[in-house]
Amino acid sequence: MHSPDPIELRAVVEHLSRQWPNRNSNLPTHREAAAWIEGKLNALGLPVEMMEYPLVPGPRVVSESAVQVVATLPGTDLANERLIVSAHLDTINWTDRVNDPYGINAPSPGANDDASGLACVLECARILRDLQPRRTIQFVLFSGEEQGLLGAKWLAQRAAAEGWNITAVLNNDMIANAVDDHGRSETQRVRVLSPEGRSRDLARWMHWEMPDHVKLIFRHDRFGRGGDHTPFNQAGFTAVRMTEVCENYGRQHTPQDTTEFMDFDYLARVTDLNAQTLARLALASPEVTNVKVDPTQGYGARITWEGDGAQWLYWRDTTSPVWEGRVAVTGNEAVVAEPHKDDAIFAVSTGGIPVEAL
Ligand SMILES: [Zn+2]
Repeated sequence: MHSPDPIELRAVVEHLSRQWPNRNSNLPTHREAAAWIEGKLNALGLPVEMMEYPLVPGPRVVSESAVQVVATLPGTDLANERLIVSAHLDTINWTDRVNDPYGINAPSPGANDDASGLACVLECARILRDLQPRRTIQFVLFSGEEQGLLGAKWLAQRAAAEGWNITAVLNNDMIANAVDDHGRSETQRVRVLSPEGRSRDLARWMHWEMPDHVKLIFRHDRFGRGGDHTPFNQAGFTAVRMTEVCENYGRQHTPQDTTEFMDFDYLARVTDLNAQTLARLALASPEVTNVKVDPTQGYGARITWEGDGAQWLYWRDTTSPVWEGRVAVTGNEAVVAEPHKDDAIFAVSTGGIPVEAL
């Protein structure tokens, strides 16, 4: 698998933010940007659905419909299981909410918010297309994000109605700003925000796999802010959000959200986290089930499970937020002398998200 290329990432962000420096979902420009994205994904050999959906009347909405992009890299033997990597293609300008309540009249180039995430999604498509994934990978560019996550709500509702089997959603929104308003900087790690449950299991596993590039945040999103992963969480799916550690609030939703302030090497690192996560999840065997700790009194621990393909037994102290160790396993049981079963949480993985023992 190729590594993400900062030059490719920069080219996408520069083109979008200069060609369509206002991609508000109420304006035809968001459709022009979507059509350009469709062309990029088609050129990679991926079938693309231009998903048209009605906009819900309300604040910030004057148009009756919008379009968003859903491209598919079909899986092989586990094709009914899906992985989604996403970002939003639309932008908004919030500098004058009194005279411009729809945020459509002034420029909103949205280079970091969220052409950075969009470039990550396209780069993941470029470097994963030859992977022959067992699971289907979908590359999604939402619209309506700035009107209240409208596009993501439509897709999450559809996924629930059609019974999609989604292993994970990786949502990327503002992932290339490395310096905040106070001069603090972070160029290595990205925040991975997750609600409790399976989404947090995904985030915790991403941290184990690439600890130098993940800053775990155990909440669903930042205070007062929203993201396109949340409608998927609310529909019961596993979904996390990636966002830079150091946000620059002064440039968000303003004409100043331009490429000159972005760090494309940092964006490449975050894109690599996405691509590596997708590749590992796409190639992992079906998850094991019924993972249990043998409750018989004694030292160490005996863990059992059902299903083939187990590769790793993980453990962490009951108070630890992150996995602390793992050992290779096969078959359907593992016995360890340490740690003591009463003092630890165990999980078994087939190469993807570990399944916790009860
Ligand atoms: Zn955004």
